[in-house]
Amino acid sequence: MKIKMLCPEPNSFSQKGLDYARYFSHLTAKTMTQKEFEKNAPQFDAVLVRFNTKVGSNIFGKESNIKAVISPATGLDHIDMKSAKLNGVKVFHLRGKKRFLKGVSGTAELSVGLMLSVMRKIPQSFSAVKNGIWDTGPFRGNEVAGKTLGVIGCGRLGSKVSRTAVSLGMKVIAYDPYISRFPSGVEVKSSQLDLLSNADIVSLHVPLLDETKHLISHNEVSQMKTGVVIINTSRGAIIKTSALLNGLNSKHILSAALDVVEDEHLMKGATHPLVEYACKHDNLLITPHIGGATFESVEKTDLFILENYYKSIADNDE
Ligand code: NAD
Repeated sequence: MKIKMLCPEPNSFSQKGLDYARYFSHLTAKTMTQKEFEKNAPQFDAVLVRFNTKVGSNIFGKESNIKAVISPATGLDHIDMKSAKLNGVKVFHLRGKKRFLKGVSGTAELSVGLMLSVMRKIPQSFSAVKNGIWDTGPFRGNEVAGKTLGVIGCGRLGSKVSRTAVSLGMKVIAYDPYISRFPSGVEVKSSQLDLLSNADIVSLHVPLLDETKHLISHNEVSQMKTGVVIINTSRGAIIKTSALLNGLNSKHILSAALDVVEDEHLMKGATHPLVEYACKHDNLLITPHIGGATFESVEKTDLFILENYYKSIADNDE
């Protein structure tokens, strides 16, 4: 009998991925609100989500048919992993799939793109051009060559960003207490404070865990150099929103570029304090969590995770 699979956010998957899932399963691929997802999910054997849907304990349990959560993501804070385990639900994800992930570079590329965008004021200057203004004066920016980039979390993405930054002529310093091998050309710092007080630009690449929530708060902002630039493509809650806003308002933080914001799930339809700030000031750039959203990365990761899932079912059937 074919597996009943629910995908409540088909727009974040590739056509090939959905076709693949449809070939092996009875796939219901329909954009749903969080409430609709929670109501419908327990009738399915498996749910296919990226990171826009919260998979909480309320969809598991005795009354639920769910046996698998399939999510082509490395950040897993949208899934209640403890509850999934307790309920015998297997979670198929990308965290730790090192060899495969080596070939997935969308988010690292975006981090570098955001850094260059804020340093060179690319969005503001293009807005001006669209408004008929052709003037270099207001858009004089800063070069990255010769600046110090501080990378917090030097795993897959932090390493890729570090290597690119080195090739751009930057000095790269990194802090990651859990690893011993760093890319060549990177100076390893033994404390976060040492990194924060020496970096011109800070780029965040840690997973969201209890330990890393608000890793950058008021105290950490105060430890940074005046005029620091912050780039965050990891998870929004790594930075405390009020600390970022205070830093931007006081100009202690020169500018920031974010692909993720705290309480991102509230973004749809609601006003977010960071978006409100960005509408009134031009030192904050925000993109809507597009790090991994390249045609290449989405298709590759969809097919990889679904292959893993169907293979595990086939293995169990043998
Ligand atoms: P990774 O596991 O390869 O690297 C994370 C690194 O952070 C590890 O080396 C770990 O040792 C380090 N770390 C953990 N806690 C730390 C701490 N307190 N201080 C310093 N370092 C710490 O993960 P990755 O593939 O590089 O991804 C990093 C994060 O980026 C993911 O967890 C995910 O949340 C986010 N991400 C975002 C997007 C996007 O679309 N914007 C896409 C992919 C991943």
